[in-house]
Amino acid sequence: VLSFILRFVSYSFSKMNYKKYFSDELTSLKSQGLYRKFRQINRNQVNFPKATERFEGKERAVEVWCSNDYLNLSQHPLVILESVKVVKELGTGSGGTRNISGTSSYHADLESDLAELHNKEAALLFPSAYTANQSTLWTLCKKLEGCEVYSDELNHASMIQGIKNANVTTHVFKHNDIEHLEELLKTSNANTPKLIVFESLYSMEGLRSPIKEIVRLAKKYNALTYLDEVHSVGLYGPEGRGIAAELSVSDDIDIINGTLSKAFGQMGGYIAANSDIIDFIRSFAPGFIFTSSANPSIAAASIQAIQIAKKADILRANIRANSDLIREGLTEYDIPFLANDSHIIPIHLYDPELCKQAANVLIEEHGIYIQPIFYPTVPKGDERFRVTITPKHSASDAVSYTHLRAHETGRNIVCRHLLEKK
Ligand code: PLP
Repeated sequence: VLSFILRFVSYSFSKMNYKKYFSDELTSLKSQGLYRKFRQINRNQVNFPKATERFEGKERAVEVWCSNDYLNLSQHPLVILESVKVVKELGTGSGGTRNISGTSSYHADLESDLAELHNKEAALLFPSAYTANQSTLWTLCKKLEGCEVYSDELNHASMIQGIKNANVTTHVFKHNDIEHLEELLKTSNANTPKLIVFESLYSMEGLRSPIKEIVRLAKKYNALTYLDEVHSVGLYGPEGRGIAAELSVSDDIDIINGTLSKAFGQMGGYIAANSDIIDFIRSFAPGFIFTSSANPSIAAASIQAIQIAKKADILRANIRANSDLIREGLTEYDIPFLANDSHIIPIHLYDPELCKQAANVLIEEHGIYIQPIFYPTVPKGDERFRVTITPKHSASDAVSYTHLRAHETGRNIVCRHLLEKK
């Protein structure tokens, strides 16, 4: 009896307290300044970047300065028209996985268009670029026996998850560091299947990768190349075909990953490659096989958006010009930013709480919505704003906002913090 009582008491004290666990974890997250709250932003279709924020039960007008709807195609009249037309024709859902009644003619046509966009034999749609990365990489790592991965240290979480879950030997090379990559490749066995995984434009830095040099190493060491072009499709290269196309190395990249949810303004992701690789992933990737396909109206709207994006040289030039204006304004007011030649303007604050504070000042005093970016999206200590400009941010807005608003808010807050750090 005594042993039973002791066992019961010890069980009662040591048993898992789920409620406490979750609550403690959240308290710890909050104490580190890493807790996320979502702002409720309704973007206005007619006059984006204007939007309405629902805040404390009221609505207020704001302007969005951090959207990934880079070409604003999610609100383009022709794209909306196509989407509504197909909803009326086919309904709002796809009806199943691609295998079970979820492949419409729109899905098939979109895959042909994506293959053509990247000059590849075939393409495969996924519910998101996240799933495309995660599931494709997991499948390759699992199926290519003994596969070793060479992965850039700043690769997106979706790629890291795919690789990690597969539990294969992974060599992480320093960001964009070709010499380090080669050092690691040199140690590999010639017969080992190898996969080099990287992005063409890093989403949080706006910096390009040395694609040509990586391709050269891939050839030298007989490695497959996997390139995430999520932040460059629609924006860079001839007709927005991406940075690999701009550098004429698309043919040397084995698998290109892209998204429909940023420059094309829709939802979903894809890979493009030769027809055997696509058929292989189609046949073996759980993240493709076991999930319902996108609504056909999304596929139809994506087809339309890609067509528009191909002809959107003027929009692409506007983004570039507006981004340069912002950079000029920031320079003029001594606000440090990470220099690059892309549409992504990172302004580091190096502190999650300060980043949130600055974001609150911007929205409350100036109606500018810029999301603070912190861990796990970027490493701890690398907190920042990530400003993105669309063609609908007018040049005069860009000048006046950087001059007036960045002066009052960004400079005061960012510089005060930097001075304090020194
Ligand atoms: N790859 C990169 C580099 C990203 O930044 C993101 C998302 O922001 C993704 C993949 C995932 O894209 P999606 O939103 O289509 O899932």
